[in-house]
Amino acid sequence: MNLHEYQGKEILNSFGVRIQRGIVANTPEEAVAAAKKLTEETGTGWHVIKAQVHAGGRGKGGGVKLAKNLEDVKNISNDILGMMLITPQTSAEGKLVNQVLIAEDVYYPGDSEPSEFYMSVLLNRATGRNMIMYSTEGGMDIETVAEETPHLIFTEEVDPGLGLMPFQARKIAFNLGLSGAALKEMVKFVTALYTAYIKSDSSMFEINPVLKTSDDKIMAVDAKVTLDENALYRHKDYAAMRDLREENPIEVEAKAAGLNYVDLDGNVGCMVNGAGLAMGTMDLIKQAGGDPANFLDVGGTADAQRVETAFGIILKDPNVKAILVNIFGGIVRCDRVAQGVVDAYKNMGDKINVPIICRLQGTNAKEAKELIDNSGMEIISATEFQEAADKVQEVLQVKA
Ligand code: GDP
Ligand code: MN
Repeated sequence: MNLHEYQGKEILNSFGVRIQRGIVANTPEEAVAAAKKLTEETGTGWHVIKAQVHAGGRGKGGGVKLAKNLEDVKNISNDILGMMLITPQTSAEGKLVNQVLIAEDVYYPGDSEPSEFYMSVLLNRATGRNMIMYSTEGGMDIETVAEETPHLIFTEEVDPGLGLMPFQARKIAFNLGLSGAALKEMVKFVTALYTAYIKSDSSMFEINPVLKTSDDKIMAVDAKVTLDENALYRHKDYAAMRDLREENPIEVEAKAAGLNYVDLDGNVGCMVNGAGLAMGTMDLIKQAGGDPANFLDVGGTADAQRVETAFGIILKDPNVKAILVNIFGGIVRCDRVAQGVVDAYKNMGDKINVPIICRLQGTNAKEAKELIDNSGMEIISATEFQEAADKVQEVLQVKA
């Protein structure tokens, strides 16, 4: 689950990671009140107004602006709130900005050399260990750094039994070219950051930039935090941070119905039970020349109600031109699933406006096929996996 910058910073702060302070606002009036409050607390007169959307590169898209007085705060917030922010990480239409973060300006005017670093904490899946990735080239696109100057990106792997060792934190600070007070501050920063990552059950932290001010403070200016959803049950306060406005509406609805659904770009809707079979089905569709419109695991109990809900969700995607039902009847009998498909088809009537190819294998597969073939519905049955994928291609070609 992805968080907004202001939420990520809240979590970091709760573990003692120094952050650029800020207050979130929904309206220009709230923004002005927030700026006044920050001035009282931090003494800063300048503020940065930052669009809160689940996408990076906001600065480039005009979603991060400096305000030198309250008038600026009001006008800039007014401009950014409600805008469709387009960044290299959004779609072409951009993302609607519902909130802005009013943050203290931490780039002191006249500061000759504020240093911006890059730092992330994530799991290295190849070694099964968490690692800290960091670079002196902060503030810019890390993908560009990786492409053009990969030797400027360092990684430090952490032994899960030992945790981050003090010498590792020092090595990171040293590799970033720091010494004296700044080195000590960076050691504290990295240590607190890693603790926050572990204790919050996050799957990714990306802090770009980490700022070193001229008076040797080290702080997180940006925060991209991804929480591990499987651990949300033990962080009720984090679970409440979910912003459904940022998520795909069909996926949100599917989740509420207990379906495991991921929206994709293709035109073949898939209804499958079991994640492995769902992946296999997508592969086979691709191999036959098609393109899956979604990943959908309906789970073990593929009864009529569930099948109908799943059809409804798949059909919300206007790109879907055919649906492949591929269900293995192990625990659930194929003839029951077939009955479910037929019943759902009957109930939905005109709502189903694309051809359905149905392959049921496993217990009572033969009865299931007969049930489908004799239903009088326009459902094309298939027995073999490849045959099902080929039939999908056939109907798509007929339509085209
Ligand atoms: P991103 O573009 O979505 O990654 O958003 P960031 O939070 O990283 O902000 C983009 C850029 O805005 C940063 O790289 C900084 O250069 C700049 N910025 C952020 N905070 C401040 C600030 O307090 N003062 C000034 N002057 N610039 C800032
Ligand atoms: Mn950033």
